[in-house]
Amino acid sequence: MSNIIAVIFDFDDTLVPDSTNLLLEKFGVDTNQFWKDTYTKLVTKGYDPTLAYIKLLLDLVGEGKPLGELNNQQLNEFGATLDSLFYPGIPELFDDLKTIVKEINELIAIEFYIISGGLHAIISGSSIVNDYFYGFYGCMLDEEGDPPILSGIKRAITYTEKTRYIFEINKGIRYRDALVDPFAINTFIPPSERRIPIENMIYLGDGYNDVPCFSLLAAHKASSFGVFSPEDNKRAQHSYINMVQYHRVQSIHAPNFEEDQDLGSLIRMAVSTLASSISLRLQTGYIR
Ligand SMILES: [Mg+2]
Repeated sequence: MSNIIAVIFDFDDTLVPDSTNLLLEKFGVDTNQFWKDTYTKLVTKGYDPTLAYIKLLLDLVGEGKPLGELNNQQLNEFGATLDSLFYPGIPELFDDLKTIVKEINELIAIEFYIISGGLHAIISGSSIVNDYFYGFYGCMLDEEGDPPILSGIKRAITYTEKTRYIFEINKGIRYRDALVDPFAINTFIPPSERRIPIENMIYLGDGYNDVPCFSLLAAHKASSFGVFSPEDNKRAQHSYINMVQYHRVQSIHAPNFEEDQDLGSLIRMAVSTLASSISLRLQTGYIR
């Protein structure tokens, strides 16, 4: 019987504004054109959207090109600049949730995770991420040369690929072990021995990439919440309707995690409810 709760977040447009756009803007790249190119030039040719955006990004790297001789270290330093851009209520939410859980039952723990289709090197530069998150996953890029320059894709996290990391969290497979053993995820672990059951998870995300995670949690009667930006365009709004219409998420909210705001209070309530039911199970020995 597990006494650990996992709250799992998408990164871009869920915790912070889209970090790829912020990176491109920093180098003066037209982001509308970039995403238009991603879809019209590559996705319509059969590219997976995640691989398409990374390929276009890498095409902009190099001497005399818009992103210059960019490397992972520079992405890391750029990630550090995102700390001031996290949505309202972050990082206070994390300490609040830990307090809520401890007040319900000292034996229950809560952990925070990020599963993102964005760049791991950017996410890992944030001190908020390093201070509060038990684990985080993102696309990884290789580099070559001295000094090193980004050269290729090591790891891409696409749509259903996101659920792979939910299963890593579920099975308690450590990040470092999974990095060097990609098949560790296929290790058989009986459901009763898994570190964090999917029933103990809560997922928050904003887009099509998150739908497989929403659906996986829904199949286990676990809660997901959608995040949307009220100023987004119509095409994006269609994806929000898609989330709610098929009951993939409980509800969708603007990204404000403060205690007195919709999303902020709802997550606190969802964690409190989950912790109470785990506490009851711990006290009575009742297992579903
Ligand atoms: Mg997102």
